[in-house]
Amino acid sequence: MIAHDGMYIDGSWRPAAGRDTTEVVNPADEQVIGVVPAGTAEDVDAAVRAARAALPAWAATPPARRGEHLAALRDALAARQEEVAATVTAELGSPIGFARRVHAGVPVAVAGSYAELAAEHAFEERIGNSTVLHEPVGVVAAITPWNYPLHQIVAKVAPALAAGCTVVLKPAEDTPLTAQLFAECVADAGFPAGVFNLVTGLGEVAGRALAEHGGVDLVSFTGSTAVGRSVAAAAGAAIKRVALELGGKSACVVLPGADLTRAVTTTVADVMRNAGQSCNALTRLLVHADHYEEAVRIAAEAVQDYVPGDPADPATRMGPLVSAAQRERVTGYVTRGIEEGARLVVGGPGAPEGREKGHYVRPTVFADVTPGMTIAQEEIFGPVVCVMRYEDEEEALRIANGTVYGLAGAVWAQDEERAAAFARRMDTGQVDINGGRFNLLAPFGGHKQSGIGRELGVHGLTEYLQTKSLQF
Ligand code: NAD
Repeated sequence: MIAHDGMYIDGSWRPAAGRDTTEVVNPADEQVIGVVPAGTAEDVDAAVRAARAALPAWAATPPARRGEHLAALRDALAARQEEVAATVTAELGSPIGFARRVHAGVPVAVAGSYAELAAEHAFEERIGNSTVLHEPVGVVAAITPWNYPLHQIVAKVAPALAAGCTVVLKPAEDTPLTAQLFAECVADAGFPAGVFNLVTGLGEVAGRALAEHGGVDLVSFTGSTAVGRSVAAAAGAAIKRVALELGGKSACVVLPGADLTRAVTTTVADVMRNAGQSCNALTRLLVHADHYEEAVRIAAEAVQDYVPGDPADPATRMGPLVSAAQRERVTGYVTRGIEEGARLVVGGPGAPEGREKGHYVRPTVFADVTPGMTIAQEEIFGPVVCVMRYEDEEEALRIANGTVYGLAGAVWAQDEERAAAFARRMDTGQVDINGGRFNLLAPFGGHKQSGIGRELGVHGLTEYLQTKSLQF
């Protein structure tokens, strides 16, 4: 596994300004698998300067040419897919099959989509006597979390580069090896020096210095609501653009007449994916009182398919959580759920049998969860399903919309029209109808405290553009 001891700045790997480092730990066996430099404000400053210097030429590069570079990046990511999957499995603990399919596969498709969008997008339009130019915003600070380490990097860097912006990336401290691998792919793709720069390090140090740097024009942050709030406050004070992708507490609403077994098993699979560490996980399963106990029974049975195990084994469907801190957070919520009176159907706060080493937790189903409980309101970020009961559609809507979040959602009904009518009333950024598949070109992002701005597809591209109107 590669582990560079420097930062990727201005087109080459160079030594960090300071001597601090962070260890990368495999969450399945708690072994140290790499050491990377912990960047300082000095490293961040060097990276931002390189990005600023590269900006004029990159912004003036014809979009179709920028698209060719992105196509080369897509090919570089595709060529190293197996290495990406192995790295994500080692530092995040994601099962290798899921890592291959999703963690390594999806970024190839996203990079490819921006290669095409760069070539096709209308960066100029005519409105009456005006020509409106869509110009790059400038230098972008990309701050990313660990749960989909490569996807979240690519979902920011690819559209920013397609738009003609230059980028400084500060990835999560738990998953820097994937970020270093990405920087190698950028180098392989032949981008001009300084267009993309990587500074690894702690959020409080390198992340904060980057978000607050005067040479940054736009901060694109994905992570927790608490940090997002402070990043947005700093950006606001400096009148910088900011995009935030934050947490979620998404609801899956099963309306009477829906295929209950399909709805419940699909939702359980959705929550167990990536060991529950997905911001758009459908963690609240809302079922009509008439079908409630049946749904709880199906959920309890479905969870049996997810036995925590070695993520490097292709047969494993659920690995450990990313870190000890994350395990403490999740088991804390499970204990809280029991204390507040939810009915523990499967799982619980202890380690799974035979998995005392590694940051494993037990897949858990709670029933009789009511809207006022902590586990119904706060993001757990683990494999925990909360099954909630409703009496009529109005109550279901009140519960679904009754959190500070609004990132994703799902509705199941006998017919799509009825489900879509309910979905229109949900206060959330995305809703899957009767198991609708994830669409890499549809805007992804939150309502309410789930965020500001959108990623993916053309909406993700326009985040990085600003208009200039010429009147004739
Ligand atoms: P986090 O907020 O702790 O960290 C995210 C990133 O911010 C990391 O790179 C971290 O180093 C950096 N950071 C930390 N403090 C900072 C500061 N003061 N200034 C600048 N940067 C700082 O979040 P996490 O624990 O890494 O990720 C989990 C959270 O992210 C969950 O709440 C999850 O829902 C959310 N998330 C949201 C989405 C989405 O698209 N909406 C996607 C993935 C994760």
